[in-house]
Amino acid sequence: MSRKARSMRPFAYQRAADASSAVQTLAAAAVENTPQTEATIQPLAGGTTLIDLMKLDVMRPGTLVDINPLASAWSTIDLEGGNLRLGALARMSDVAANPQVQQYYPVIADSLKLAASPQLRNMATLGGNVLQRTRCTYFRDVNYDNCNKRNPGSGCAALEGFNRTHAVLGTSDRCIATYPGDFAQAMIALDATLEITGKSGVRNIPFAQLHKPPGDSPQIETTLAAGELISGFAISGRWPRSVYLKARDRQSYEFALASAAIALDVQDGVVRDARVALGGVATVPWRVGAAEALLKGQKFDDALAQRAAETAFADAKSREHNAFKIPLGRRVVARALHRAATMEI
Ligand SMILES: Cc1cc2nc3c(=O)[nH]c(=O)nc-3n(C[C@H](O)[C@H](O)[C@H](O)COP(=O)(O)OP(=O)(O)OC[C@H]3O[C@@H](n4cnc5c(N)ncnc54)[C@H](O)[C@@H]3O)c2cc1C
Ligand code: SF4
Repeated sequence: MSRKARSMRPFAYQRAADASSAVQTLAAAAVENTPQTEATIQPLAGGTTLIDLMKLDVMRPGTLVDINPLASAWSTIDLEGGNLRLGALARMSDVAANPQVQQYYPVIADSLKLAASPQLRNMATLGGNVLQRTRCTYFRDVNYDNCNKRNPGSGCAALEGFNRTHAVLGTSDRCIATYPGDFAQAMIALDATLEITGKSGVRNIPFAQLHKPPGDSPQIETTLAAGELISGFAISGRWPRSVYLKARDRQSYEFALASAAIALDVQDGVVRDARVALGGVATVPWRVGAAEALLKGQKFDDALAQRAAETAFADAKSREHNAFKIPLGRRVVARALHRAATMEI
């Protein structure tokens, strides 16, 4: 490894006048873009990931399009009709502090409250949050050449390197980087719909289809076409019996080593519906259908929660330094299930 001298590269800055001109500008440059990761033009929301990675020389956009002028239309928190819609430019802190989100969707409020720091949450948006990049040390340090995600085809320094924080689910022999965010686990557990605005208009996809596991092309992280913007998130129904539990090296200002987003419908002690999603242990926000199937229709007790937790990690594959994540993750799932099943609503 040879150390490279770095300085921040020059870039152009534009303020979006409206959504239509923002997507036109982004899409016009799209032909020159390699996928998502190396885009030459990039939307700027709170900037807490993007500017960080530009300073590290990991992301090198030639132009930033500041989408904050769209905030009046894109930052609403709407709870009408028993459903929830969140604008992509809503700040993490505003959504976490919303009393109705806390009451009807505690898994969302907690996933946001337990993330980052108060200052970051005041700045950071939901859209930027779900598109944050991995914290893999080798990805974030350009002195390492071997990173398939940053430098496709170069290898993966983490496979034989220090991989304590890396993923045990959804990995490939090209990349084992962990998806680092918290809010996305709540979205995947609640079957959220993602609203995307592009030059052809608005389209909706299941949130679960946003992130792509690394496979043979870890540099392609999402299914967004270049130039598309996330404009909102929609959730059907209310999920008051839901929790987000996060295990980390310290109690604040730290990413998850293992986390669980749980939503349950329990009637007379029987689990009618169950949603189980994992964070900190997988390459993408990870929904565990097998654990949900095991829970549904069963009388809840801690033995059932333990079996669901075992099932959640049945396919886990550890590396030299991260085997501890499997028992830790099981404990987090079992405890989160217990907390959700026994909470007073
Ligand atoms: C020290 C530190 C600790 C942190 N800890 C946590 C943590 O514990 N849990 C957690 O979840 N997060 C954590 N974060 C990450 C933080 O939450 C994200 O940086 C933040 O949510 C990103 O939002 P932003 O608005 O600042 O995005 P930006 O930095 O502006 O953008 C991020 C990316 O998304 C793109 N983008 C932004 N908005 C849109 C949009 N609407 N449509 C399409 N593309 C868009 C940008 O082009 C960029 O590529 C931490 C960050 C730091 C620096
Ligand atoms: S785990 Fe992924 S992001 Fe980390 S070095 Fe390997 S290829 Fe790069």
